[in-house]
Amino acid sequence: MISVEEALARVTAAFRPLGSERVPLSAACGRVLAEDVKAALSQPPAAVSSMDGYAVRAADTAKVPASLNVVGEAPAGRAYAGTLKPGEAVRIFTGGPLPEGADAIVIQERAKTENGRVEILEVPIPGKFIRPEGLDFKAGETGLSKGRQLTPRDIGLAAAMGASEVTVSRKPRIAVLATGDELVPPGQKPGPNQIVSSNGPALSAFIAAQGAEPLDLGIAGDSIPALKSAAERAMGADMLVTTGGVSVGDYDLVQDAFAEIGFSANFWQVAMRPGKPLLFGRIGQLPMLGFPGNPVSAIVCAIVYMRPAIRIMLGAGAEPGTVRVARLARGLGANDHRQDYLRAKLSFDGAGAAIAEPFERQDSSMLAYLAGAECLVVRPPHAPPIAAGGMVPIILLSSAAA
Ligand code: AMP
Ligand code: MG
Repeated sequence: MISVEEALARVTAAFRPLGSERVPLSAACGRVLAEDVKAALSQPPAAVSSMDGYAVRAADTAKVPASLNVVGEAPAGRAYAGTLKPGEAVRIFTGGPLPEGADAIVIQERAKTENGRVEILEVPIPGKFIRPEGLDFKAGETGLSKGRQLTPRDIGLAAAMGASEVTVSRKPRIAVLATGDELVPPGQKPGPNQIVSSNGPALSAFIAAQGAEPLDLGIAGDSIPALKSAAERAMGADMLVTTGGVSVGDYDLVQDAFAEIGFSANFWQVAMRPGKPLLFGRIGQLPMLGFPGNPVSAIVCAIVYMRPAIRIMLGAGAEPGTVRVARLARGLGANDHRQDYLRAKLSFDGAGAAIAEPFERQDSSMLAYLAGAECLVVRPPHAPPIAAGGMVPIILLSSAAA
């Protein structure tokens, strides 16, 4: 049995970034950039006012009050055509282009208008309230770098930079196969001693939430022919993930069935809880992760192994912000040789520090606790007992992506 670290190293070594495609900005949120986004434009395109007021020459307003002749206006999107001459002011609005000759803005709260003239009541500071050309970004600058998973804010930046499409990595296509004679598809009423296959929907949703594309292969019964023909339908995908049938029982036939269609194992069994029977290998060129059937094991294995594999195929970096530390709300005993992932509640103390409270029951079949968990407390192999208040690493679950 290998360690989680070793297993993760072997899984991640087996994946490479996939190709890329162009998508419109409207479909780009959540996708990973395969090429930098460079500004085709400068923003603002010319110096503009950041306030509503008057564009003036600082030399005319060094002493106040000063009375100036209002010669025109510069609203956002329309420039004053002339050049400001001594004694002149231009009515200007937020985003309005700074007229030629003007070098200061007087906000309207510090000015009084009187039939075609304006009385300036405060000496303006040259440059203040003026956004110079290219303040936000200049044409040619890199706005967003390759490998970035696009947020709604990034979409805004890309649009402002003049992009209508971006080059993103192709979505990995991941085939999902549930195995087990006891399973019926979601929506179907289970017969006696049957249960609904919850792993299929959970893993498909997980895959989609990571920015990949699930291909649902349904359920294969516990027989060599059924497993073989189901796996054959995964050919052409970028990965196959199965659940169930990888343990040591008489009906755990996944390895035997796949061996008949060219499966070679990289590893089987990892020192972790849940997830010990995890299987990893290839059927020909197709990487295959065989998760245990227990729903908690399947999701924990998806978080620990499948998420990094997807991120590599997407050309994205490590998942940001999912690993943190928290204080334990209660003590835990010594751990054995398996790395533990304890389902836990997460709260915050008065200072905002995280507090993790593992559930008393940690049965890997219990979906209700899994769904109610907000983090996983990670207990390394042979961790000594730890008292309430001790610090532990956690994996956050509270985002929509897990
Ligand atoms: P196995 O890994 O095949 O020995 O299955 C372990 C446990 O997980 C058994 O109690 C199965 O009934 C259950 N199980 C297997 N596959 C699924 C699934 N797709 N959805 C929900 N439970 C499952
Ligand atoms: Mg089974």
